[in-house]
Amino acid sequence: MVHTLVDQHGRVATDLRVSLTDRCNLRCTYCMPPEGLDWMPTDEQLTDDEVVRLIGVAVQRLGVREVRFTGGEPLVRRGLVDIVRQVRALDAEVEMSITTNALGLAKTAHALAEAGLNRANVSLDTVRSEVFHEITRRDRFADVVEGLAAAEAAGLGPVKVNAVLLRGVNDDEAPELLAWCLDRGYQLRFIEQMPLDAQHGWDRASMVTADDILASLSAAYRLEPASEPRGSAPAELFHVDGGPATVGIIASVTRPFCGDCDRVRLTADGQVRNCLFARSESDLRDAMRAGATDDELADRWRAAMWGKLPGHGIDDPTFLQPDRPMSAIGG
Ligand code: SAM
Ligand code: SF4
Repeated sequence: MVHTLVDQHGRVATDLRVSLTDRCNLRCTYCMPPEGLDWMPTDEQLTDDEVVRLIGVAVQRLGVREVRFTGGEPLVRRGLVDIVRQVRALDAEVEMSITTNALGLAKTAHALAEAGLNRANVSLDTVRSEVFHEITRRDRFADVVEGLAAAEAAGLGPVKVNAVLLRGVNDDEAPELLAWCLDRGYQLRFIEQMPLDAQHGWDRASMVTADDILASLSAAYRLEPASEPRGSAPAELFHVDGGPATVGIIASVTRPFCGDCDRVRLTADGQVRNCLFARSESDLRDAMRAGATDDELADRWRAAMWGKLPGHGIDDPTFLQPDRPMSAIGG
């Protein structure tokens, strides 16, 4: 019998974000320090079979309909293609996508599509090679461009591009990024920078807000709010110059959408997080390794969701950033 992941505020989680690793081959300044982090020891990380088993519990017993692989950088996880194939074998309908920096995607896009992946979201904050180097601390802009094209060619579309704007670095680039994505048929979405970086460098006063982004885009394009209901989608969509092309803004900080949230997260070491900003987690890994049945794991998972807070409280003076940074939670 399928139960749902409902919380005490009536929200139902159907969208599972699975972090496959906390490691990454870039070092985006807003995400992690130049030297990287103390990576998770391998024995703490779920094995491929354990990841597939927990996704199976979510899809077959808890009503999850979308699975998004993320990290860290999910493409550095060796078993990725096989994990996708096994999840597809469990359920022919579940929507599967990946959020990736696209390094190496040129090589794996085809295999991922063949294994059953539906879509790719690629993070790209700039279309200027030197700015890419400055933000990611790696000179790999060309690889991302190639990865994006490969995703489109492999049928992992509509390809979405996620961009974070940073004051004084790329905050003048919104229209240029949009033109670049429109030319290639990619759907661009800007994400407001959130207090989730390992080095605690986020600053509310200097972050680039949805209002800033809309003002900057409006100087070059005619934007109209899309009339389609937004539902639980984090992005607020705007038609560009009369449509059908759109641009999205994910304004988690200045226009929070917690009331409509349908997301739940599983970390690479098997912890359920009911919110990006949660300050507590529920362990499924040790329960599974101690012999818990699928029904018992599903019970634990439901209990973990029930206590989801109504909002992230970033604007509350008592707000505390979670101990895990974004790269270890799974964005
Ligand atoms: N490495 C992959 C990537 O970059 O797409 C997946 C993981 S990354 C943590 C997922 C998304 O989170 C990326 O789009 C990234 O730009 C975004 N991100 C990372 N740190 C962030 C922060 N502090 N605020 C807002 N978005 C952030
Ligand atoms: Fe890596 Fe993604 Fe973080 Fe950039 S945002 S350092 S690509 S995990």
